[in-house]
Amino acid sequence: MSLNINRANKDPFYRYKMPAITAKTEGKGNGIKTNITNLLDVSRAINRPNEHVLKFFGFELGAQTKLDYKTDKYLINGVHDPNKLQNCLDIYIKKYVLCGSCMNPETTFKFEGNGASSKKVGEILKDCKACGKLTPVLMGDKLSAYIWKNQDEYLNLMANNGNGDDDDKGGKKHRRAAATASENIQGGGKTISDLANQHGENGEGEDNSEEEEEGLTIDDEQLEKDLQNLKTTELEDVDNWALDMSKEAILQRQLQANSQPLSDSLTQLHEFGQWIETEDPSDIDIYKKVLSLDLLSDAKIMSVIVQALVEAEEIESMNELISSFFTEHKAILIKLINGRENFEEQLLGGLERIVSNKYYEEKALLPKVVILLYNEDIISEEVILSFYKKCSSRFVDKKRCKELRRLVKPVLTWLEEADEESDEE
Ligand SMILES: [Zn+2]
Repeated sequence: MSLNINRANKDPFYRYKMPAITAKTEGKGNGIKTNITNLLDVSRAINRPNEHVLKFFGFELGAQTKLDYKTDKYLINGVHDPNKLQNCLDIYIKKYVLCGSCMNPETTFKFEGNGASSKKVGEILKDCKACGKLTPVLMGDKLSAYIWKNQDEYLNLMANNGNGDDDDKGGKKHRRAAATASENIQGGGKTISDLANQHGENGEGEDNSEEEEEGLTIDDEQLEKDLQNLKTTELEDVDNWALDMSKEAILQRQLQANSQPLSDSLTQLHEFGQWIETEDPSDIDIYKKVLSLDLLSDAKIMSVIVQALVEAEEIESMNELISSFFTEHKAILIKLINGRENFEEQLLGGLERIVSNKYYEEKALLPKVVILLYNEDIISEEVILSFYKKCSSRFVDKKRCKELRRLVKPVLTWLEEADEESDEE
């Protein structure tokens, strides 16, 4: 059976196809493994090294993987249902294959930065053959770090593939990313009439309930965990925050999520921000939206949320930020940050952008905002100290960044002195 590479695209005439994952288990007891029998074909169809795909499965499922070139086996420890693997592959494709601008899968990686050996990790970009845009892969997970580190190997591999498609020239290793997505169309792909015929058998009826049940795996475990945490917080309105956790309701949400087009994380964040700006939703609705978009582990939501909320609520001045804005949204901010320093940094980054873009004349009030965030336990002392000590152009240009840090400096001194005093006690 062949599937659309972008499975959110239900068009039977969609040009980009890949085979459905096939897998079987091998071994027994503790040594039981899942062998993805067609990993090579799947990787080839999406034009990615099969190592990347296999490693992604391993990272995502928290299981060891093994690639055996001799026997052509692609193994994951434990038992993993093909439907689950297929859902997992969707995540990979969305993140690492589809163009963030036009959603076309004909992309290759480009690396920006000083190469794999430099200490500083740069950026991985998806270079789209269809629209020509470069869109960044969101860094920060294990696979992006792996791809970054092995960029030379990837580039060699791609260069070799360009010189004809000779499978055995460099041994089996070179078969890993054999064809581009367009070669897949011309070679292994189907003609339009093939697809039209297939529509009858694999069309509407394909989404049978069995498959949907199988889909209730990875994400929902996380969802349930998150909701468990949510219930233990001191939010005033806990009942309203709880989602319907019946199996039907979960399934319904899953289906809704699946019918939305897959988009690059950055596009998703952008749309999320626009949704806040136009809808001016309640904090509860924002939290639910974050859950449904599966953005709970994306630190960038913090800078998006503060900036979008300031727009949505038409906050007029820094004084308004201090007098009401942050105290009103305290609960959701703390909930989303959940003790994670990079989330706190993103919040401070969003604040920096707000000050720079909207209230630069009132910038002298920034220290007051920082003290408020500290007093309200939204941002920790450690993050305030580290964030305002270094200067970068991450959120605003360097000149403004410097100026804002100069203004916040007395706060840092105050925090450090308070520390020393308490040490003396
Ligand atoms: Zn594109």
